[in-house]
Amino acid sequence: MSEDFDLVVIGAGSGGVRAARTAAGFGARVAIVEERFYGGTCVNVGCVPKKLFAYAAGFPEDIALARDFGYATEVPEVDWSRLRQTKDREIERLNGIYQNLLIRSDVAIYEGHGVIESEGVVRVGEQRLNTRHILVATGGKPWIPDFPGREHINISDDLFYLDELPRAVAVVGGGYIACEFASILNGLGCDVELIYRRELFLRGFDDDIREFVAEDMARQGIELHFSTEVDSVEALDDGLRLNLGHGDFMDVDRVFYATGRVPLVDELFAERVQPDLSYTGAVVVDDHYESSIPGVYAIGDVTDRVQLTPVALEEGMWLARHLYSDENPIPLSYEFIPSAVFCQPNIGSVGLTEHEALEHHGPVRVYQTKFRPMRHSLGKSETKALMKLIVDNATDQVVGLHMAGEEASEITQGFAVALRMGATKADFNATVGIHPTSAEEFVTMRDGEFIEP
Ligand code: NDP
Repeated sequence: MSEDFDLVVIGAGSGGVRAARTAAGFGARVAIVEERFYGGTCVNVGCVPKKLFAYAAGFPEDIALARDFGYATEVPEVDWSRLRQTKDREIERLNGIYQNLLIRSDVAIYEGHGVIESEGVVRVGEQRLNTRHILVATGGKPWIPDFPGREHINISDDLFYLDELPRAVAVVGGGYIACEFASILNGLGCDVELIYRRELFLRGFDDDIREFVAEDMARQGIELHFSTEVDSVEALDDGLRLNLGHGDFMDVDRVFYATGRVPLVDELFAERVQPDLSYTGAVVVDDHYESSIPGVYAIGDVTDRVQLTPVALEEGMWLARHLYSDENPIPLSYEFIPSAVFCQPNIGSVGLTEHEALEHHGPVRVYQTKFRPMRHSLGKSETKALMKLIVDNATDQVVGLHMAGEEASEITQGFAVALRMGATKADFNATVGIHPTSAEEFVTMRDGEFIEP
């Protein structure tokens, strides 16, 4: 059986669904192929369940704080199975919404594994889809290094389906997922050990933020083991032993590996249509997201450029406009993409780190403040926030804005607009603050430190 389309999208994750719907909106005949779940990583085993668990993990601190505000209340234990069920229901609801969005947009849905058989042909099982364009939006998958006992470990996906909350947990890695997971598990009441191979985690983030987050996580009881590697993992009768070299070991109930993600291109391209792949296995694309095979495009995590859902969404919409509308969309800008790490404390970041700014702009002025947010100043809470601005000394442009603390992600989103527009420190100074908030600190800091490369 064969069908004819303008566009066949492989992968119904954030980017693929958005590209499919947008293209269909321009009148293209569109099909989408999905083998696992609607909404992809973000909806099923990423952003959404992670944020729900992060909210859950924040309640013990809130409840403890409530006591300082006069509420006579004890911090209860989390009911894990109830939390998991609530999360499962929400994800199911979102899966349905994604599927309905596709149906209502007249996108034909094919459930199964899609293979690009030749230029213009995608096969799903026995079905053959003929098409003008193919879009690869298959996303990524966790990557784990090789070591003895690798079969005993868990990946980040697993946390969302555990029957029981473990008591003692190790998290290996020092990036987004490792830090978010360590905070979630700690907040939910587990004993957490975070193991990272270099001297300080969150490589790529501003150094002051990295140090602040490390100090604060340690204050909250997460055991940080930097410059530490796991040589092997052994199964014990009642858990796991991680061998750390030099005879050191650590016994835990579970170990979660968050050592990065790689593009998902397994059994995707038949032999005669192999596009150029990077050394990480990512589909290499040009400025129009076209691969080295004409008519085969790729967006999102499978291109391994910026692994963030909103970037995949933008790329999907851009491509649909480019291929099927009369518009001539200007290329997307990859500068000033804000991002957040939903660890505790939250991190929000947009623009350059101090180190990058010194490298690219020369002398800078750095403004920073560390303080106890008002909500925490009443009682015994030691929760603090760090806010930092990096200003190009020659032009006065704010080239970096970083925060670690409550609501950092929410606050950073708004400031990202200003940074994209080229706001100067004088613009920040001229903006009236909202009092009393934490965010107002970004427009009231006046004493900058002059730093030369
Ligand atoms: P990251 O790339 O952020 O971090 C990977 C971590 O694993 C790094 O600390 C890295 O160390 C470490 N690592 C790599 N190889 C090894 C190894 N062989 N042994 C030990 N440690 C190793 O990946 P994540 O898996 O955390 O997340 C993947 C991507 O997903 C992120 O980059 C991000 O783009 C996206 N994401 C975004 C989120 C958000 O927006 N809030 C949340 C979660 C994920 P080193 O620093 O030394 O390289």
